[in-house]
Amino acid sequence: MHPDGEKILLTEEQLELQVAELGRRISQDYAGKEILVVGILKGAMVFLADLVRKITVPTYFDFISVSSYGSSTKSSGVVRILKDLDRSITGRHVLIVEDIIDTGLTLNYLLENLSSRHPASIKLCALLDKPSRRLKPANINIDYCGFTIPDEFVVGYGLDYNERYRNLPYIMILSPKIYGGGKQNVTA
Ligand code: 5GP
Repeated sequence: MHPDGEKILLTEEQLELQVAELGRRISQDYAGKEILVVGILKGAMVFLADLVRKITVPTYFDFISVSSYGSSTKSSGVVRILKDLDRSITGRHVLIVEDIIDTGLTLNYLLENLSSRHPASIKLCALLDKPSRRLKPANINIDYCGFTIPDEFVVGYGLDYNERYRNLPYIMILSPKIYGGGKQNVTA
């Protein structure tokens, strides 16, 4: 394990098996349709790359980048679009792919924003869910969820701390001595 880690939470093998299972379920549910996968940069990138290769129906990609946390240690609820989608989603079957749902504030905003563009349908696929941290539980329904995890700060498999650790092939709990117990400069 990387020396900055406290513990491996999800191994490469666990990730591979669960991503394949999510791909199988998605392919089954969308049979006869085309999917527009909307990836949330940058954290979802690694998960998305593995997931789409397990989807067997025609799949298109687009990406959106939002800022979720600023420099403070608490989620402010203020979400800013840094890079919008390249194309219209009107009439498309949109599947949002996110790395982790924490407070839910980012997704709450994005679901509202993307729904107002009149897609044919909109669903959410998240690799990780931290339900104990949710601020607006009623508004977030994760249609496809990889793993429910405890309230720990995790990195790897696309997830960063100050842009580091994204390329780790597993997900580990970051040692609190690295981040000083707060969540700083975390970007989606
Ligand atoms: P939310 O708006 O749900 O609180 O924030 C979701 C975003 O916060 C995720 O896309 C991710 O970028 C970041 N985030 C939340 N928890 C973690 C975590 O444990 N590790 C990392 N690396 N990012 C996290």
